[in-house]
This record gives sequence, C-alpha cells and structure tokens, in this order.
Amino acid sequence: MKRLPVVESQLLTELRERIASARAQPEVAQHLERAIAQLDEALAQVQRARRVSAATWRALDRAYEAVDRYLDALVRAAEVPVRCGPGCSACCTEAPPVHAIEGLRLARALLARDDGRDRVQRAVEQARSFQTLLLDRMSLAGAGGRAKTRSAMYRETQKAWRRARNNCPILGEDGRCSAYAARPLACRVYVSVDEPAKCDPRHPGFDTLQRPALWASPRERALEQRLAAIGAALGLSPTPNLQWAVAQLHDHAELRR
Ligand code: SF4
Repeated sequence: MKRLPVVESQLLTELRERIASARAQPEVAQHLERAIAQLDEALAQVQRARRVSAATWRALDRAYEAVDRYLDALVRAAEVPVRCGPGCSACCTEAPPVHAIEGLRLARALLARDDGRDRVQRAVEQARSFQTLLLDRMSLAGAGGRAKTRSAMYRETQKAWRRARNNCPILGEDGRCSAYAARPLACRVYVSVDEPAKCDPRHPGFDTLQRPALWASPRERALEQRLAAIGAALGLSPTPNLQWAVAQLHDHAELRR
C-alpha cells in the first residue's frame, strides 16, 4: 500500500522554525555546550579507567542537569506552548529508546532505593513481554512472506506496546517519574503541544498528536554520540529500550563495586 505523505500542521511548522532560531541563541546554546563538555570529561575518564568512577557518575549528573537547562531555555526562547505537566503520565506507557549508559545509570538509581529491586523485576518482566511481542510479529511477517525491515517491525511492536498501556516500570503510583533525575534523554525531550487527552494511546486522535521536535540538530546528535561512545568504551551492548536496558544491566559489574 502506498504511504500517504505526513502533513505537518501549521503550528508544528511555525514551532520548527522558532525552535531552530532559538537553538542559535548563545544564551540557549551555552547549556548544550556545557552538557557536551561534561560528557567529553566522562568519556575521557571511562576511556582511561575502563570503568565508571564516582567522578564519572558526577560528570554524567552534571551533563543531564545541563541538558534540562538547555531544554528549558529552548522551550522558553521558542515560546513552545508545552501542555505536559506533573502527574500527566500518559506518555509513560512507552518503551522509550535509551543509550546503554542511560540504562546503567537508571539501574544504579533504582538499586539505591528500597523499592528498586521490585522495579527492576518489573522491567525484566516487561522486557520479556516486549521481546515476545516482537518475535511474534517477526514470525508473522515471515509466515506471510512480507518483506518488512526489522526496524519497521520494531516500530509496530512499539505501537502495540503503547496501545496495551503497560506503565513504565519506573512510573510512581502518584503518576510521576520515580527516578526523575536519572530518566533518559528520550523522556526529557518528549513534549506535546496538544490536548493532553490525546496522549492516551486509546484516544482516537492519538496518531495525530502534535509533538514538536526539540531534539533534531547536529549538535544535539553530537551529544548523543558521546553517550553512545561512553557505552562503547565500557563494552556495553546497545539496547533498544528502557525495559531491555534495565533488564540487561541491573547486575552489571559496574553496579557491584
Ligand atoms: S523513565 Fe520516567 S519519564 Fe520516562 S517513561 Fe519511565 S516513568 Fe516516564
């Protein structure tokens, strides 16, 4: 079937332009540059020591604090009418993509808490369910002889996962992220400018939810390259999503030191 072209709304077109010009403002860009500098420091430490020292964890914390300042400044400068707020957790039914180092950082934050083991266990169970869904989809595609790429099948699985409304294993009972400081980049950059009800995957307007792309520039991608490089320097395998990453990494040697 021929794919229809995705038509960007006028609001999203305007926001894309406003965000692009806000990115170029030195008072906004400085925060992103600080975050990258902190990640460069963390990467150099990891390459030297081949492990994550206390200083590396601190550099990572500072990098994410700078990312939050950058995103705040970007949203303010571009006057993005964000509709997200505390306690609105409809988007926390995702299996968000994460870099391996983010999964390790999240697992570390969880294991430092009383309820951490339970949440890790939930992540392990969800990772298994997600994998089963994905494998079913792959074998269906194989049986039907349809030539689908792995990434297309992964995207379909993500969609089915969201529609099944599996709350993220980190989501608190109060509807807030229970590991806010350690949440991955994908969660930080996910904002909606639309009716909050439409964020619910069961809402008929879910597929047309208006979400401006806050994270799309070469410099922003450069920051992600640092995150990937830190994981690679530690020998961590890439992970597709948060549940998978926590399931794989919660008993990593770095967290037993
Ligand atoms: S890590 Fe936090 S913000 Fe991200 S999906 Fe899970 S609960 Fe939501």
